[in-house]
Formats: sequence, structure tokens, C-alpha cells
Amino acid sequence: MSTTVPQFEHWIDGHPVPPVSGRHVDSTSPHDGELVFRVADGSAEDVERAVTAAHRAQPAWGRTTTTERSRVLTSIAAGIRENIDRLVELECAEGGKLPVPARIELLIAADYFEYYGSIVRTLAGDTIDQGPRNLTYTRHEPYGVVAVITPWNGPLNQGSRGIAPALAAGNTVVLKPSEFTSTTSLELGRIAAEAGLPDGVLNIVTGLGSTVGVPLVSHHLVRRIGFTGSVTTGRAIGRIAAERVIPVGLELGGKSPILVFADADLDAAARAAAMAVLVNSGQVCSATTRLLVERSVQDELVRRIGAILDGKRPGADFGPIVTSPQFDKMLGMLATARQEGAHAAVGGHKYEDGVPERGLYVQPTVLTDVKPDMQVAREEVFGPVLVAMPFDTEDEAVTLAHATEYGLAAAVWCGDAARGIALAHRIEAGQVAVNGGVMGVETPFGGYRTSGIGREKGIAALYEYTQLKTVSVTLPDQGIN
Ligand code: NAD
Repeated sequence: MSTTVPQFEHWIDGHPVPPVSGRHVDSTSPHDGELVFRVADGSAEDVERAVTAAHRAQPAWGRTTTTERSRVLTSIAAGIRENIDRLVELECAEGGKLPVPARIELLIAADYFEYYGSIVRTLAGDTIDQGPRNLTYTRHEPYGVVAVITPWNGPLNQGSRGIAPALAAGNTVVLKPSEFTSTTSLELGRIAAEAGLPDGVLNIVTGLGSTVGVPLVSHHLVRRIGFTGSVTTGRAIGRIAAERVIPVGLELGGKSPILVFADADLDAAARAAAMAVLVNSGQVCSATTRLLVERSVQDELVRRIGAILDGKRPGADFGPIVTSPQFDKMLGMLATARQEGAHAAVGGHKYEDGVPERGLYVQPTVLTDVKPDMQVAREEVFGPVLVAMPFDTEDEAVTLAHATEYGLAAAVWCGDAARGIALAHRIEAGQVAVNGGVMGVETPFGGYRTSGIGREKGIAALYEYTQLKTVSVTLPDQGIN
């Protein structure tokens, strides 16, 4: 074993803890296939240790005041910002991210801690009138131990999106990050401890879904699950949660539409469509990769998108695909699309010029002559592939927008704001942006249809990590009326 490759252990009960098995898995860079890290290969025994620590720590953490929790979460936000250079370096090395977008995503991770550290101070129940000799009120109580499971594509960002509201509400957490991108989540353990988070309140166990994820969501002391990932895994976890009768938040995949009308600002719409395939190479759950465009402007819009994508450089303007299986799957989907009659107006192939031999780069691609029933129009590619389909009427645009099983996000570009708002209300998606839009940590995020259940971000997520109790007290009859 090379001694120069950094090795990462689990984070349990406030300390780095080697896996019971003694095994570590290799983490390689999708940029060039080089080994970059070794990460603890977890098992049910590691999960047991982490859940036990979280369970032991929860009563004391749950009894702290919101002011105390607020201070710790705010310090964690500061810690993330202080460590930002290292965190960017880690996510770029193992996930193939580009430094500028990685930094933006990681600073948002800090924002989650600051935001939930702030709004938790407003956490409040209601009093309910049940007559003069009665005091009846509600409390938002923590669940206890919460499992957070995250995908590979925004590791610390998505982890923080679940961890921050869960901790703010008084839960303790066991986090299982993706086996492909674990290191910044492990760093968060250290940062949180340095910020004053008590031992056991946040635990991180790395490894596979089958050997860590399944025992975690099945553990009898885990009382709520926050999952972000694919629909297939979401269904499997949902079945376990249903059997155990515990709540589960599911943030799943998407195939989100971008609707462009002839009177839209076409340059702005073209930039937005191009960004959907460039940012993280389209490996973003809410990427608007179905371009639904009014027929009269389709050719012009595709030309303008092509002009933006033309000359974009791998490794500088867009990154690689995360793993070889995902890369092969994507090339397979492009081949199937060609067989089914689609044409690549832009890109369409593996990127070979000037990239490392084992670099997993796909050309930013725009497909035309796509029909709604083609695989590439219905299924999530999770890569830099935009599929263009024309429409003639507003109703047709909405029908196309709904032509997949998903409902995560949508974008509308049009010259008439009232029409944009009416469309936003018609489209079945958890978030709709009209002519750009702004959606910060304050805005609720989640899916309609198979894109998920529940909401993360915003005030809504804080309440998702609490359970509601009603207390009713009959007061002594001491002349109260
Ligand atoms: P994935 O479902 O393969 O894995 C996600 C996580 O679940 C990983 O940590 C994995 O190890 C774990 N896992 C796998 N099988 C498991 C099981 N049976 N039980 C418990 N845990 C298990 O997803 P991925 O490939 O890492 O991520 C890409 C997917 O995530 C895409 O579909 C994307 O759209 C989706 N995603 C959704 C959001 C959102 O907020 N809605 C955000 C990012 C990514």
C-alpha cells in the first residue's frame, strides 16, 4: 500500500475511528483515473457504534436551548468557511468538480448551518383554547437519532442541507455519504467538533449502500431518514421506512424541463440552457435538461446554445462524469438516442482531445429530432445532455413538461410575466423559476411525483425534522375563569 495516499476513517463519537473490518476502499479521480484517497469501508458493526453514540448523545443535545444550538451551528458555518480551500480541494479531487462551482456549493453548505442556526430561535408551538381552566399547547420535539444519506454529486452541500435542520431541531445524526465522495463529510465531523458540537451528536460512517446504508436505515434506534439520491434507492429505503413506520424524506432524481417561448429573451434562455449541461457536467438533480421550445425559435435557440457550448474546455469549463459505469451508461444512452432517430446538433460523443487517457469526459451535447417517448427524453441522463423538443401551443408545452415520471424543477422563459406565473402554477414540479428566478437556502426544495416526498431547505425543513406533541393541562380550580 502506498503511504502517500491520504486515508480517511469514520467519524464516531467525536473522533476518527478505523472500520471494524480494517478495510478501506480506493477513491479515484474521474479526471484522470488516479488513486486519490482511501476511505473506511464500513459495515453494520460500524453503524452500530455510530448509532449507539448518537443515541447516547441525543437526550442532552435535545435539552439544550435553541440559543445554545444556534451558537454551535453558527460556529460550524464559520468553521466551514475557514476550511474552504481544503474542502474545495477534496471535492475536486474525488468528484471531478471544478474549483469555482465547488467553492460556491461549499459556501452554501456553510449558509445552511448559519440559516438553521438562526431560524431555530423562532421554533415555536401554538397554544390552543380549550376552555378557561385548561392550558393546551404544542411542542416541536426532535425525533431522536436521524439518518442522513447523501449522493455523490454535492457531498457536503447536500449533507449540510439535512444535517443542519436536524441538529437545529435537537436530533443527533448519523450521516452516510456516497462511497464515491466521502471526504468532505468526514472533514465536517472535525470542523463541527472544533466548533463545540458535543461528541456523538454528529457521526459519519462511510461505505457502500448495501453494507452501511441498509443497516443504518434498518436500525431500530434510527427514528427518521433524510435521503437524497436516485429513485431506485429511494424506493428501497421507502420500503424499509414503511415497514418500520418511520418518516422518510426522499429527495430524488429529475428530468426537468426548460420552456422557452418565442417572445423570451433568447440570449438569456440560451445561457440558462447551456448552464444546465455545463454546471457539474449536468450531474445536478434539478438540471433543466429538457429544452421545450416554441417551434418558430427552435433553430435559432439551438444555434445560440451551440455558440455558447462551442469551444468550452474539459477540465476548465466543464468537469468529468463521476464514475466509469455512469460514463458508459451515458455513452450507451447517446447511442440509443441516435438509433431512435435523434441527432446531435452539438457534441454527442466522448471527449478525447487533450484530456487524460482515463478521463471520463463527455462533450456538452444538444440533441434535436427527439420524441417524448424516446429513452433520452424520459430518463435521467445525469450528464451534459440537453434534449430539444418543439411545441406549438402553451397546452402542448405543458403536456410535454409532464411527459416524464418526474416533477423536481422547471424553468419558464417568456416575454410576459403574467403568462410565466400562470405556467408556474400549472406545471407539476416542486420549484419553478420564471425568467431566471433566485432560490437560496431560504426557499423550500423537493419533488412532485416520483422526484420525492417532503421538503428540504427553508423553514419547512426545520419542521420536517421535528415531531409535534400536544400537551393539555387541567389547571387547579383557583378562581381562574
Ligand atoms: P444513489 O441512489 O445511487 O446513492 C445515493 C446514496 O444512497 C449513496 O450514499 C449510496 O451509497 C446510498 N445507497 C445506495 N443503495 C442504498 C440502499 N439500498 N440503502 C441505503 N442507502 C443506499 O444515487 P447517486 O448516484 O449517488 O446520486 C445520483 C442521483 O441522486 C440522481 O438520481 C440525482 O437526481 C439524485 N439527486 C437528487 C437530489 C435532490 O435533491 N432531489 C440531489 C442530488 C442528487
